[in-house]
Amino acid sequence: MSKLRCHHCGKPIDAQDATCPHCGIPLPPAKALTPHRKFILWFVALVIFCLALIYWLPPDWTGL
Ligand SMILES: [Zn+2]
Repeated sequence: MSKLRCHHCGKPIDAQDATCPHCGIPLPPAKALTPHRKFILWFVALVIFCLALIYWLPPDWTGL
């Protein structure tokens, strides 16, 4: 399910694992849910929303 790999033994690991289940080496904390990553996801969602809005609105929505 996860595409993460242990940096020590190279075997697949889970993002929630604190240590590698294969070689037992401590793993760095998962980077998937850091605030910075969340901000990027929200920003991308906002851009997609704006693009959808541009396509949805008629071309003369500004009244010009
Ligand atoms: Zn390992």
